[in-house]
Amino acid sequence: MKISLIILSAFDFVLFFFHSIFGKQLNLIYFWFVYYYYCLLIVVTMKRRLLLLSNSTLFGQSYFEWSKSIVNDFLGSSVETILFIPFAGVTISWDEYKNLVSKALDRYKIQGIHEVEDMVQAVNSAQVICIGGGNTFNLLYKLQENNLISIIRKRILEDGIPYIGWSAGSNVACVDIGTTNDMPVIWPSTDSALNLFPYNLNPHYTEATIPNINGESRITRLNEAFEVKQRSIVALPEGTGIKVENGKFQFFRTELPQYLPLTVKVWKKVKNSKKPEILEYPMEEKQSDWKQLDIFS
Ligand code: ASP
Repeated sequence: MKISLIILSAFDFVLFFFHSIFGKQLNLIYFWFVYYYYCLLIVVTMKRRLLLLSNSTLFGQSYFEWSKSIVNDFLGSSVETILFIPFAGVTISWDEYKNLVSKALDRYKIQGIHEVEDMVQAVNSAQVICIGGGNTFNLLYKLQENNLISIIRKRILEDGIPYIGWSAGSNVACVDIGTTNDMPVIWPSTDSALNLFPYNLNPHYTEATIPNINGESRITRLNEAFEVKQRSIVALPEGTGIKVENGKFQFFRTELPQYLPLTVKVWKKVKNSKKPEILEYPMEEKQSDWKQLDIFS
């Protein structure tokens, strides 16, 4: 798909060049190629289905308690098997991690990618791809080491299979992993990530500071990240997430009353300005309205 888009845009350019020399004869052909090109772009944008959770588990709850029904609703009843990528797990073994997820998402068969002979083939035949939380740097390192970045992108963006991520698994769905809260325990070859979601994201977002401790607050860290990246950042408090479908997205939150109220914040890129506009989305309803995916561009 990517190659066909490149060929088409090159062809468009050549047509445009000849058009400027030969005039109207090429008008029609040019029109159809531009039309076809944009249709392809729209199809690619519409296909992606993402469920990006700030966190899997809320304090005092069992594993995946708040998010299980959200995952089940997102996947529907036709899904049987989920390909689970446990690479963010560092102090937990990948078998243990897979078993934990199997128990929580008991409606599905969970296939751990670390168990298969050929990981690329497993991604190629997956019905759903699910990436769990842990250390984001370790996760991206392992995705790169196993040559999984482009094949995962292809499956989500071109084939339209669903993607579920939480914490580190949501971080790697972004353009890069630069707004993770994690330490770089290992250095991936680049911080560029899956680029399924066109912004940065900060999971486990909190404005709490520790009394008598001088370290930077989360707000300060995100201001720094914005200053350097000049890209919108979505800050998701625990118990919230983002669903992307049909070229649109909505925020959602837990229903558990003890965690409310919850507000999602966005450091929004503003045209011709280096400073962000800070938007607040108080989550009065369980879901926000649907918004165009490019609204923060
Ligand atoms: N360590 C987090 C997780 O996956 C990710 C983050 O905070 O950036 O749970």
